Amino acid sequence: MPESLQKIYIQVAVALPISDTFTYTVTGELIEEVAVGKRALVPFSGRKITAYILRIIPPGKRKGIKDIITVIDTRPLFPPQMVEFFEWLSHYYLYPIGLVIKGALPAGLNVRIPDRTRMPSRGWLDRVGLLKMVFITLKKGTTIDRSLFDRKRLPRNEDEFLEMMIKKKEVSLREINSVFSNGAYLADKWVRKGFLKKTRRTVARDILDETLFIPTKPPPLNSKQKEVAERINEKLRDNTFFTYLLYGITDSGKTEVYYHAVRAAKELGKQSIIMVPEIALTVSMASLFKARFKDRVAILHSALSTGERYDQWIRIAKGDADVVIGARSALFAPLPRLGLIIVDEEHDLSYKQEEKFRYQARDAAIMRAKLSDAVIILGSGTPSVQSYQNAAIGKYGLLTMPKRILKRELPEIQVIDMAKLKRGSAAQDESIMSPPLKEAIEENLTQKKQTILFLNRRGFSSLYLCRFCGETIRCPNCEVSLTYHKYGNNLLCHYCGFSIKPPKRCPSCNSEDLKPYGFGTQRVAQVLESLFPKARVERMDRDTMRRKGEAQQVLKRFMQHETDILVGTQMVTKGHDFPDVTLVGVISADLSLNYPDFRAGEITFQLLSQVAGRTGRGNMPGKVIIQTFNPSHYAITATKDHDYTKFFSREIALRRQVNYPPFSLIAYVRFLGNSKTKTEKIAAHIGMKIRNTIKQQSKRKNAVEVLGPVEAPMAKLKGKYRQQILIKSRTSRYLNQLLKDVESFSTQILSSSGVRMIIDVDPYQMM
Ligand code: ADP
Ligand code: ZN
Ligand code: ZN
Repeated sequence: MPESLQKIYIQVAVALPISDTFTYTVTGELIEEVAVGKRALVPFSGRKITAYILRIIPPGKRKGIKDIITVIDTRPLFPPQMVEFFEWLSHYYLYPIGLVIKGALPAGLNVRIPDRTRMPSRGWLDRVGLLKMVFITLKKGTTIDRSLFDRKRLPRNEDEFLEMMIKKKEVSLREINSVFSNGAYLADKWVRKGFLKKTRRTVARDILDETLFIPTKPPPLNSKQKEVAERINEKLRDNTFFTYLLYGITDSGKTEVYYHAVRAAKELGKQSIIMVPEIALTVSMASLFKARFKDRVAILHSALSTGERYDQWIRIAKGDADVVIGARSALFAPLPRLGLIIVDEEHDLSYKQEEKFRYQARDAAIMRAKLSDAVIILGSGTPSVQSYQNAAIGKYGLLTMPKRILKRELPEIQVIDMAKLKRGSAAQDESIMSPPLKEAIEENLTQKKQTILFLNRRGFSSLYLCRFCGETIRCPNCEVSLTYHKYGNNLLCHYCGFSIKPPKRCPSCNSEDLKPYGFGTQRVAQVLESLFPKARVERMDRDTMRRKGEAQQVLKRFMQHETDILVGTQMVTKGHDFPDVTLVGVISADLSLNYPDFRAGEITFQLLSQVAGRTGRGNMPGKVIIQTFNPSHYAITATKDHDYTKFFSREIALRRQVNYPPFSLIAYVRFLGNSKTKTEKIAAHIGMKIRNTIKQQSKRKNAVEVLGPVEAPMAKLKGKYRQQILIKSRTSRYLNQLLKDVESFSTQILSSSGVRMIIDVDPYQMM
C-alpha cells in the first residue's frame, strides 16, 4: 500500500456544545469504511464520543493528531452536499455544529458506551426496526381477469380477492389476511395455480394507517392551476435556485399544484421535500402522495418512534424516496438529489423552533434550496409579511390563486364593537358573550349545526385596556403595547424598558374605565354552560389536552357531531375540515392584537383568517362573529373584507416607520437565572459590553441598535427570572459578527454565575 493510503485525515464535528470542528486520522482497514456522512467514535479529552465525518481533508503537518477508534455506520446518514447546509445553520443561528447535526438526525441514534471495553458492533443500527414482510404479487406474463370469476366452484369472496389483486397488483399478506379470513388459503391457491407469486422483502414499517391509502386519480388541473404549475416547471428545468411565493386562498387547490410540481421534479430525476406546520397535517398530505407515488414517499417527523424514524431516514439516504413529507424536521431529510422544497402554510409560527436549536425552518429551507440549486415554493393563504415583501420587491417570484376551486362562498364576517355594548349592558357575562354572538349560537343549536369558539390565550393576557375606547397604553418609543406587571403595579415596555404607573384616565378618550384585561377558555365554557345548559360543550387547550391522543379524541367526537360547541385556543384553528360547522365566534380579537410584539397585527390577521376558514366548508354557508374593542383596526377590517393586500400595505408601512423586520434584522440575547439580582447584573454587564463593542467599530455604529436589557414580558418563567436585550441591525452580516463577539466575551462573565445566556436570531417569541 502506498504511504499516502496508509493514513487519511478527516474533519469531524463532535456531538458536544462546541463550535469548532476537529481533525482526526484514520489508518488501516478503517480507511475503506470512512465516508462523509458516517459517524465515527473518537477519543476526546479522555472520553469516547460520537463524531460526524464532514470531509476527507489533505494531510496536515500538525503532529499529535489522534486516530479514530472506529466507524459506527455502514452507510452514510447524510449526503456530502448537506455538510455546507449544517455549517450555515451553525454559523447563522450561532449553535454548535455537532448539536445541529445531532438534532437533525433521528433521535436514538446516538450511541452510549457505558463500559470502556465493549465497542458497539458495526452495523447494529441496520437491524433496528426493519420488518420482513411477505408480498403477493401478480406474476409477470400472466393475466387475471373476470373470466376466472365465473367458475362454479370458487369459494365465496374469491372473486373479491382476485378483484383486489387486479386492482392493486401487489398486496402484503398481512393486508390480505386483514381483509379475508381465508386470506392465506386464497393466496396460496393462486400462487400454486401460477398466477400470483410470493416474495419476502425487508420493508420500512408502514407508518400510515392502511385505510388512508385511497388511490385517487389526480383531477385535471383548472386553467389557473395549470398556469402556476407551468411556471414552476420552467424553473425546475433551469436547474438553479429559485424561490416562489404561492399565494393561494384556502380551497384554491394548492395541494394539486404541489403534486404536479413533485411529479415534474421526479421526471427530471429530482427529489422533493414537503413541509407542513404540524405533525397532524402530515397525515392527509401523505395519504394523497402515497396513493399516487406508492412507496416512493417517506415520512419524517418527531412523533415517529425511534425505529420508524430510523427506517425512514435510511430509505431516504439510500435514495429510495422521491418525496419526503413531514413537519419542521423534514428540512433535514438526507435526500441525495434534492430539487424541490415546498413549505406549506409558510406563515405559520410553528416553523420556528423555540427551544435548544432555535432555527426558522422556512428560512433555513430557503438556504437549503439555495445550496442545492433547488426550487422552493412557499405556499400560504395568508403569506407572512416578510415573504410577501420579498415577492413585492422581486426577490421571489409571485404566483397567485385568488379563487376557490369549488366556487364556495367565503364566509360572511360580522364585527362586534364590544366598547359600544359594554356601556348599556347589565350582565357581566356580556363582556365574554355579546348578545349577537349569543343569539347566533342559539340559532345554530336549533338548526343542529356546530359552533367553534376561539379564544387566543397564548400564555399572555396582561394587557391594560380601556374598556371604553379599546385603546391600550403604548410605549412612546416603540409603539408596542405596554405590559401590565401585577407585581410592582406598573406598565412596562419590554423592548426599551420604558415604565410608568398605570394612568387613572385613558390618554385617548379620558375614560376612567382602564383595567387589566384577560380571561381564559375555562371561563368561556362556564358562561356557555349557564347560557345553554343543554348544549354539549367541549374545551380544547393545553390544559385539557395534557394526555397524548386527547386532542384527537375531542376532534373525533366533534367530527361525529357528538359535541355542539367546541371552545379552544389556536389548536382549533388549523387545517381541520368540519362540514357541519356553520358558525365561528372569536371571543376577543384584542388579546393577539395587543401582544407586546411587532408582529401583533400580522398574527391577528393570520389567526382570524384561519379561524374564519373553519366555517362554511360543507353545503351550508358559514358565518363568523368577531368580538373586539378595536373594530376599526386594519387587521380586523382587512379580515372582514377578505383583503390581504389591504392588510399588507398598512402593515408594511408601519414596519418601515419603526424599522422592524423586514426592514431590519433582529436578535434577542436572553438571560435566565434563579436569582433576580444576579440575572439583572449579568444582563446589565453584557449589555454595556455590547454597547462598547459597537462604539469601537465605526462601521457598525450606525447599522446596529441595542435596546435594553429589560425584564421580559414573562418576567419569570419556570422558576427562572428573565432579562432580555434586543439587537436591531441593518444587515445580517453585522448582526452575525456582533453576536459572535457577544458569545466570545460572555463565556467568562457567565461561567459559574448561575445565569444562562440564550441567543435567538430572527426571534418570533417576544415574551
Ligand atoms: P388548498 O390547499 O389551496 O386549501 P386543496 O388543494 O386542499 O386547497 O383543494 C381543495 C379541494 O379542491 C380539495 O378537495 C381538492 O381535491 C379539490 N381540487 C383541487 N384541484 C382540483 C381540480 N383541478 N378539480 C377538481 N377539484 C380539485
Ligand atoms: Zn379610552
Ligand atoms: Zn419601548
